[in-house]
Amino acid sequence: MKFANRIDKLPPYLFVEISKKIAAKRAKGIDVISFGIGDPDIPTPSHIIDSLIAASKVPANHRYPESEGLPEFRKSVRDWYQKRFGVTLDADKEILPLIGSKEGIGHIALCFIDPGDIALVPDPGYPVYSVGTMLAGGQSYYLPLHEENGFLPDLDAIPEDIARKAKVLWLNYPNNPTGAIADAAFFEKAVRFAKKYDIAICHDGPYSDVAFDGYKPISFLQTPGAMDVGIEFHSLSKTFNMTGWRIGMAVGNAQIINSLMRVKSNLDSGIPQAIQQMGIAALKGPQDAIAEHNRIYQHRRDKLCAVLNQMGLKVKPPKASLYIWARIPDGITSADYATRLLEEADTVVTPGRGYGQAGEGYIRFSLTLDDKKFNEGLARLSKFGDKTSKTVKV
Ligand SMILES: *Cc1c(COP(=O)(O)O)cnc(C)c1O
Repeated sequence: MKFANRIDKLPPYLFVEISKKIAAKRAKGIDVISFGIGDPDIPTPSHIIDSLIAASKVPANHRYPESEGLPEFRKSVRDWYQKRFGVTLDADKEILPLIGSKEGIGHIALCFIDPGDIALVPDPGYPVYSVGTMLAGGQSYYLPLHEENGFLPDLDAIPEDIARKAKVLWLNYPNNPTGAIADAAFFEKAVRFAKKYDIAICHDGPYSDVAFDGYKPISFLQTPGAMDVGIEFHSLSKTFNMTGWRIGMAVGNAQIINSLMRVKSNLDSGIPQAIQQMGIAALKGPQDAIAEHNRIYQHRRDKLCAVLNQMGLKVKPPKASLYIWARIPDGITSADYATRLLEEADTVVTPGRGYGQAGEGYIRFSLTLDDKKFNEGLARLSKFGDKTSKTVKV
């Protein structure tokens, strides 16, 4: 068989490598605690599950869904965006349901990228931005996110010839993996940049409702002019603990939404309708579970940050997202640090290097473990920290 070159270019999916290491430990009978994957441990709220049970019995939902999704689901997205962000959307032209936002994030490259084209991609960043670009035959120009710049890309540092050639700018706030947030001024700057160089902006915002200390993240689409140049990917995964159900949406510029719709209608047949009914129940129903979950995450955040600081790792408690992005001591790579944690403390974290070159020097902790495992994980980290401070000078 002769496979396409792109298959060789695919990186091993970050979590596959981690999963292998965990499996090897578990095969030896060792109970591994994983802070690796960002996947809410709290179940989907029960009123949403009830809507699935009812919808599963309706024969119309046993048939092919439409690619553009149920009008009722698009309307509930419209109403939610209006209420949550004050952003007005046309449910027919500016909203496209996705089989989880990852699906749309991967496919949108096909709308913009021809072989040789450039996408501007944050580093560290969610791997799908650059992999989608590569699968479409394009190249990622990486924008390093530095702590001293609040993990925002320096758009002025992009060389003129790259900016002229680029077709897409990827942004993601609240950010995975750094937990950083963006303010209105940054988004305004990004819109000016996009207009100047005729670049589309894809903002990825699944963590807009995972936030702490009373902070309420903004939508990119609240920015004046944003609808002229870009779209926002959003998802029910993190807001409503629905990662397993695969439902998200792209919203914003009608031309971009239409082109993504055209690509998708040739590749997939949309989200199962019973799951769209869950989406409607989630978006229209009571929202109080969100605050309750954020209280749980915030409590975990505070406990974890305290332990990490004791271990000598530098962390700033993030205002949003499900992650703690911790600076590790100089003189050890993030992969080696993560390996030591796994070998010596039976604890999994994600090495920052896995999110890009600029992620080196950091490790990522996810807050999505149930409290019992979380506390056991903290105990292991403390013990590791005590041992390390005695044996290694950090
Ligand atoms: C979790 C996540 C997504 C995707 O979530 P879906 O479950 O596919 O909707 C997208 N972007 C980032 C940065 C994420 O962390």
